[in-house]
Amino acid sequence: MIIQYQAGSDHPAREEVRNKIRDWGLRVQSSKGEGDDLIVVDNVFGPVTDAHRREVASFACVKTVIPIEGVPQNLSRVRRGGRHAVTIPNKWGGKPVVIGEGQPLRILAGVCAVDKDYTKPSHEMAKRAGADINRGGAYKPRTSPYDFQGLKEDGLKVLCEARAELGLPVVSEILDVRDVDLFMKYDVDVLQTGTRNAQNFELLIEAGRTGKPVLYKRGFSNSMDEFLKAANYIMEQNNENLILCLRGVKGIGHSFRNQGDLDEIVYLRQITDRPIVYDISHSSGKKSAVSGIGNMAAAGGADGLLLDVHVSPQHALVDGFQAVDSEKNLSRMIRTWRGLHDLALGA
Ligand code: PEP
Ligand code: MN
Repeated sequence: MIIQYQAGSDHPAREEVRNKIRDWGLRVQSSKGEGDDLIVVDNVFGPVTDAHRREVASFACVKTVIPIEGVPQNLSRVRRGGRHAVTIPNKWGGKPVVIGEGQPLRILAGVCAVDKDYTKPSHEMAKRAGADINRGGAYKPRTSPYDFQGLKEDGLKVLCEARAELGLPVVSEILDVRDVDLFMKYDVDVLQTGTRNAQNFELLIEAGRTGKPVLYKRGFSNSMDEFLKAANYIMEQNNENLILCLRGVKGIGHSFRNQGDLDEIVYLRQITDRPIVYDISHSSGKKSAVSGIGNMAAAGGADGLLLDVHVSPQHALVDGFQAVDSEKNLSRMIRTWRGLHDLALGA
């Protein structure tokens, strides 16, 4: 909360409020240049409750109590002195992947759902075409309980066996806090939290606590304010490896699977220091759309693009219709996306 004191309030009265706040275990940052003729404002950090706010407001020297709005300090571009990059270590033979400020556009490509026969060839194709990271879901959040839910641990095994041969780090979605140990056992390089779990705060906390890079996807019905506040749960675990991911939202009358939120790339670049990935497959839901949407996202300042690929989409267990299946097209698109990114941002 932010406390604005009455004009003419005196220092001892304000100190009384601050001592109370410190007694609650909260942190107070007082404005500089205190003087009785100035408007005095304090910032209060920590788990502030409604009761705290009410009690502070009841002091005669307090004019008003305002909840803190806007971008959380942990993710603020201004507060953190510019934009930053996240390093994804690579223990699998290849180079670490650095994504974010000052880096080339990174491509995260792979199957939507891990399958036994096509994951490795699909990931190999993505790598040959220029991908930096392979994506693959072992746990799939499905709208219907009758739909295929992912190969689960077997899927992680397949994903990680392919990784051992290909040497690229992998990103995979974690659905449940109970799976954290399993994801650590397989040493999944980047934990993805999906749109349906965007406000599953316990999951965000546990994913953050692992210290692993976390690809945090926007909830399809979440405002930017909700998105940033929830993302801050991950940073609050002393995890500096948060990567933000936009993937479209539920909108009105849109032509694709979701309503694109490409403009938020520009906004997030302005206000946060975090690397930004745009998911061009789940936002569009159409193979024919990923090229154009990728062009826009890359030119608009995304640090990475995420997409589904599959060497045999008719055999894909989930989302085959949106998977890119031609290596030639994929390499051409990746070259174009990288070129646009460099042109727009200065290589
Ligand atoms: C996915 O990336 O496989 C996925 C399910 O995405 P989202 O959570 O954005 O729907
Ligand atoms: Mn999918």
